[in-house]
Amino acid sequence: MEIVTFEGVSKTYRMGEVDVAALDHVSLSIPPGAFTAFVGPSGSGKTTTLNLIGCLDRPSEGSVTVAGRAIGSMGRRESAAFRGEHLGFVFQDFNLLPVLTVYENVEYPLLMIRDVPKGQRRGAVEHVLAAVGMEDQADKYPAQLSGGQKQRVAIARALVGKPALVLADEPTANLDGATAQRVVELMKRMRDEFGTTFVFSTHDPRIMDQAEVTFHLQDGRLTEGPAIGKGADHA
Ligand code: ADP
Ligand code: MG
Repeated sequence: MEIVTFEGVSKTYRMGEVDVAALDHVSLSIPPGAFTAFVGPSGSGKTTTLNLIGCLDRPSEGSVTVAGRAIGSMGRRESAAFRGEHLGFVFQDFNLLPVLTVYENVEYPLLMIRDVPKGQRRGAVEHVLAAVGMEDQADKYPAQLSGGQKQRVAIARALVGKPALVLADEPTANLDGATAQRVVELMKRMRDEFGTTFVFSTHDPRIMDQAEVTFHLQDGRLTEGPAIGKGADHA
């Protein structure tokens, strides 16, 4: 079964007197474990798409199914619980909490969502920190890290609850080219290691060809795709 399915999905925002179609009748599906990119210029609908997959918004029309659940019918609490259980998020500006150490930032989702015993929490945090190569930085604060290191910590935080799906909206937009490349390679490696589906968005031509499945958006419509790219045999 596909992990994400859109059937005739539209999202319309009311701007004063006019309706803006952020997404216009989009249908697509993403197989589990696929390393997937949404690519398009600014305003093409990438964030709207990821917000729908992330249960942060609902479609105006059509249906969105994530991990077998129709997200349009979920209430607020239900979608919050669903996000905590099944989804991880990586942000463009990292969104680490400045007063918490690297270790505490990664531990945080486990404290918020679930009653995980302390020893088990420690094991989970240490495992993902080692996976992203940040185990020796555990006691540092975000201000002491480079942008690339912050994003590695954010990826560890997204993975610590063992989500089925990690969503990353322009995760490399604040990174230089070489660091962006390394962050994308890390996400792909984490997919290989944890079996997590990764869905990211970008308008950066240097990283969009790293995806196995690429959807091209233009004015809220899919222009082509899914294009099957590098290493598609993984998908
Ligand atoms: P992208 O992430 O590709 O830059 P978005 O999904 O953010 O694109 O936006 C798609 C379109 O929807 C744009 O025209 C944008 O101005 C509009 N839009 C997005 N969010 C809102 C909102 N909350 N209110 C009004 N218009 C919005
Ligand atoms: Mg955006």
